[in-house]
Amino acid sequence: MVSGSHGGSPVTASSCPEEASGAVPEEVSGAVPGYGDLVESSPDALLVVAEDGSIRMVNTAAERMFGYARAELVGSDHRILLAEGFRNGLERLFFNLRRDAHTDADGDEADTAPVEAYGVRRDGTEFQAEVAGAIFVTGDGAGNGTASMIAAVRDTSHRPENDDSLREAMSLLSATLESTADGILVVSSEGEIAGVNNQFLTMWGIPREMLATGDDEAVMGFVLDQLREPAQFVEKVEALYADPAAESHDILEFRDGRTFERYSRPQKVADQVVGRVWSFRDVTAAKVAQDRITRAMADLAAQSAQLKALAFRDGLTGLSNRQLFNDRLASALADPRGTAVDVLLLDLDDFKEVNDILGHHAGDQMLIEVGRRLRACVRPDDVVARLGGDEFVVLLIESLEPEAVAVRIVDSLRVPVWIDGTMLRPSLSLGIASIGEAAVDASELLRRADVAMYAAKAAGKNRYMRFRPEMLKALVDRNDLEAGLRLAVDSGQIAVHYQPIVSAGSGTVTKVEALARWVRDDALVPPKQFIPAAERSGLIVEIGTEVLLRGCTELKPWLEEDSSRSLAVNVSGVQLQHGDFAELVLAVTESCGVDPRQLVLEVTESVFFEDDCHVIQQLMSLRTVGVRVALDDFGTGFSSLGRLQGLPVDTLKIDQSFVSMIKTGTERLPILNAMIGMAHGLGLTVTAEGVETSAQAGYLMKLDCDALQGFLFSGPQPEAALKPALDRAARAIAALRGDRVPGNR
Ligand code: C2E
Ligand code: MG
Ligand code: MG
Repeated sequence: MVSGSHGGSPVTASSCPEEASGAVPEEVSGAVPGYGDLVESSPDALLVVAEDGSIRMVNTAAERMFGYARAELVGSDHRILLAEGFRNGLERLFFNLRRDAHTDADGDEADTAPVEAYGVRRDGTEFQAEVAGAIFVTGDGAGNGTASMIAAVRDTSHRPENDDSLREAMSLLSATLESTADGILVVSSEGEIAGVNNQFLTMWGIPREMLATGDDEAVMGFVLDQLREPAQFVEKVEALYADPAAESHDILEFRDGRTFERYSRPQKVADQVVGRVWSFRDVTAAKVAQDRITRAMADLAAQSAQLKALAFRDGLTGLSNRQLFNDRLASALADPRGTAVDVLLLDLDDFKEVNDILGHHAGDQMLIEVGRRLRACVRPDDVVARLGGDEFVVLLIESLEPEAVAVRIVDSLRVPVWIDGTMLRPSLSLGIASIGEAAVDASELLRRADVAMYAAKAAGKNRYMRFRPEMLKALVDRNDLEAGLRLAVDSGQIAVHYQPIVSAGSGTVTKVEALARWVRDDALVPPKQFIPAAERSGLIVEIGTEVLLRGCTELKPWLEEDSSRSLAVNVSGVQLQHGDFAELVLAVTESCGVDPRQLVLEVTESVFFEDDCHVIQQLMSLRTVGVRVALDDFGTGFSSLGRLQGLPVDTLKIDQSFVSMIKTGTERLPILNAMIGMAHGLGLTVTAEGVETSAQAGYLMKLDCDALQGFLFSGPQPEAALKPALDRAARAIAALRGDRVPGNR
């Protein structure tokens, strides 16, 4: 069945057109005699176009009109005969005709009416034409048919209304539409697709055939399938159709990751909205780039936040660092409301020993644990910072109970810490400073906390102290003492005095203890003051060596007179841990020509506290060459008789605090009895220190104490005054023993 755009009679055909010759088929001319001639003599160019757009046959007028030979045209795509911008026109017409044929409807005049187009001749010249079409179905007799279109082309160049400028505008518009990167879709007010450009089809991947079917629903389905939010798309379309004059702009996200920008504006003809133009722009690349930039910015922001956090964190403990503490303190002090600010500065006691004895790993573990405990003692917002080493600081802002926090912190370390299987009992000294009536700046506040912390250390460690102005003087004095001591050591101002030690058994002076003396500005600085300062600063190593060297040098003649005589020298734990102490001692005795068997080293029990193998080895190796070791000040501190066994010690020196308990000599003091008895039981000799009265001496001698030392016999004397001191001491012990002393009456 043929349905024609000119309303012509239906034409039937029973077989395919003759493709090879391109001439009007016999069937057509044969069925109705004279039709072939009619076709050939038609003034209009007639073309049979197959469904795929190829030309099946043409008449003579077509050859003439387009300037091609019939053989050239047959088999070619019909679009070669259409000017740019009009090449899809015939396709659309073809589709509309077919649709009408199928539905048997009359069709919409507008759809199947002849189309205005521009044809192109073989020489490239263009001409205005009108194309009318009709469907031509060839069947196989079984009801299956192939549709072709007969197109009648009429040159309308002669028409007066021919408007070149209109044509030019059309061509320009068409060229513009096809060259833009945007996909453009025009939909009529009735919702039918009125036009698209190729870019639209490419962007959406819509097959041309699908569009040609005019099945807008199928096209819509195809479109929606690709979107992430199809409902939103439909909603927008509906909203715009409800408001034909509206414009819109939005973004479409595709399932495959692409992103389109969608613009929509009404299509108007003389102020009347006749449809809607949709334009789509693929902004995937821009969006990807934008997303990348956004992500990179977010990454950068995160990284910088992380770096910032790290810059204010202490790497080991995770606490705040000095920088953050300083910042917080500065801003708290700058608060115009005069907020209460307390700084709690604390330092672990004897932390160096943990590092030295157990290694740095254990030291680190200890610091981490202390950090954890500190945090548990304060409010979540309080700053706890590690300033470095074993020094921590807590900043309390508007705290009502800084003292209570300090107590909690000191107490928190009472629970032992287990590190690598070793139980440690850390302790700390803490100083508090707060802003009072007098405004102080951050560094002054910190300095005051530091001064208080040192006062806590000086007062015996493991405690907290609040800053008091007097502490500043103590600090100045202490610094001054250390500086003066350094000078004294460098300029050889450290002298040595000697105190005789008498033997209760032989009634003679058998030993002399060397004691360091520092005369500063004509006054004697007590060793109890400068020895701790020397230990803190490490100067004790030089002082100790000096005392040993001088003692050996000055006492050599006295020692040489009797091999049973000996020289006792005090040795600090610092010296024992410093380098090869045994080697140093032997080098000194050798250089002075003193027999090591005439040397006694006095150490306090604290040097054995840490089970320091190095210290024990040093003493043991010295004992193998005859050097003896005395345990000084026994009974003070953490002394324990039980620990004596196994220590590399020869003599026990009972501290003068026990001796001073003897007042009349008639009292019962079982402790002295036990000490002397136990020491003898362990094979040690016993010396009593600080013997000032005959009663004390008599009491001790009755207990079988081996040697006595004290002002009763002689105080410490310089070498120049030693001879008379030795004589005095000898006379005193002889008198006690009831011996006849030469020269005494
Ligand atoms: P120490 O080793 O126990 O020395 C004995 C101290 O008791 C000396 O005090 C001595 O003067 C004092 N003393 C002696 N007899 C009596 C007495 O009858 N009554 C009283 N009240 N005191 C008496 P000094 O010289 O003041 O020394 C104090 C401490 O300083 C020494 O105690 C020792 O631990 C330390 N020291 C002194 N010289 C040195 C040294 O060269 N190296 C080291 N590491 N420490 C030293
Ligand atoms: Mg001593
Ligand atoms: Mg002593």
